[in-house]
Amino acid sequence: MSGKWKPETAAIHAAYDKRSGEGTMAVPIYQTTAYEFGSAETAANRFALKELGNIYTRLNNPTVGVLEGRFAEVEGGAAALATSSGAAAVFYSIVNLAAAGENILLANKIYGGTLSLAQYTIKRFGIETRIYDPQKPETIEPLIDDKTRAIIFESISNPSIDIADVEPIVAIAKKHKIVTIVDNTVAPYLFRPFDWGVDVSVHSLSKYVTGQGLGIGGIIAERNNLNELLIGNERYKHFNEPDYSYHGLVYAQLPFPLFTLRARLSLARDIGAIAQPFAAWLFLQGLETLNLRIKRHSESALAIAKWLTTQKRVKSVNYPLLEGDKNYVYAKKYLEGYASGLLSFDVGELEFAKRILNSTKIFSRVVNIGDSKSIVTHSASTTHQQLTEKEQADCGITPGLVRLSIGLEALEDLIADLEQALNA
Ligand SMILES: *Cc1c(COP(=O)(O)O)cnc(C)c1O
Repeated sequence: MSGKWKPETAAIHAAYDKRSGEGTMAVPIYQTTAYEFGSAETAANRFALKELGNIYTRLNNPTVGVLEGRFAEVEGGAAALATSSGAAAVFYSIVNLAAAGENILLANKIYGGTLSLAQYTIKRFGIETRIYDPQKPETIEPLIDDKTRAIIFESISNPSIDIADVEPIVAIAKKHKIVTIVDNTVAPYLFRPFDWGVDVSVHSLSKYVTGQGLGIGGIIAERNNLNELLIGNERYKHFNEPDYSYHGLVYAQLPFPLFTLRARLSLARDIGAIAQPFAAWLFLQGLETLNLRIKRHSESALAIAKWLTTQKRVKSVNYPLLEGDKNYVYAKKYLEGYASGLLSFDVGELEFAKRILNSTKIFSRVVNIGDSKSIVTHSASTTHQQLTEKEQADCGITPGLVRLSIGLEALEDLIADLEQALNA
């Protein structure tokens, strides 16, 4: 079942017909590796893509398929591909566009795993990464040449909590006919990538979508009509020339959303980092309530950010919706009134920050985000430990910086916990 629903409705009903199969209200978990074809001819036709249908769970699975169809509608796009992790989703989205000898442009405020993927792993594949500042769009154009294949940024960056200036980034990409990719992990519902003309959105489902820290997964969604940009585009010859791994099939001649199709037929087939049916089912449960939860996370985070600014021992507070925050204008422009559960504050010195971490009773010391359970992190001594102090400073990380991912507990209890930790 599917229709022109609002995202909140699509999250609950899209891409599953309750009258099919046994009529179950909940989406069944099709925990299977493979599928009976019924006849030799059907088998051959499915492999030749003459007939669509299940082949093998590395390529498609009915439970994972509901998640993909549903997520595409929630995001307002044409199609989606679920992956084994957010990291795999980022990797697929890049190598679906770029090959050896080509380059990608990557925002400097970015998830650590994405940065090391770009700077080390895909570098070994011959893909070059050029770094720009997503709040200084004028840094982009000088980096573009005829080998540029993607412009990548995060809507709200993890961990630095900065918001990309999306409109000029997209305008530059459109001028040069380059695909834009947003990592929208921190801002599901809060930032609507396709309304702003972004081409591809990737998410780690391990954060707000599961919402309870229950599993690792990722997803890639493409906007409607992205084919227009890919077809006949000199930058993306591999969508327009024969793919000899499919007897010379030309993607551009197929009537499907091509970005996702190619990622599935080529990358999922050959690399295999796909979502498991049970994990997909967990993400479907999370997706049903995501829209309520993300607003509550955001409201509590804003209230705590405001409270922290009144605390004598706190030197500074970062939250995009605090008036005077360096991200405030972008938050007002790009976000739907909410800015997620991520915030950070600086207490000036390392020892004090550590004491806070050792004193919280509700906040857990975990390097995750987007859980219903509140989390406190000290970036300088954990996630960013390997960086020099200068590199840390470039990422906005100081020795006294404490990061919070605000969960769904009662606001009063969270404030009381922080208050006793600040004064411990
Ligand atoms: C966590 C995260 C990832 C990686 O996702 P995994 O599911 O942990 O592989 C990518 N991007 C962002 C912004 C993240 O927060």
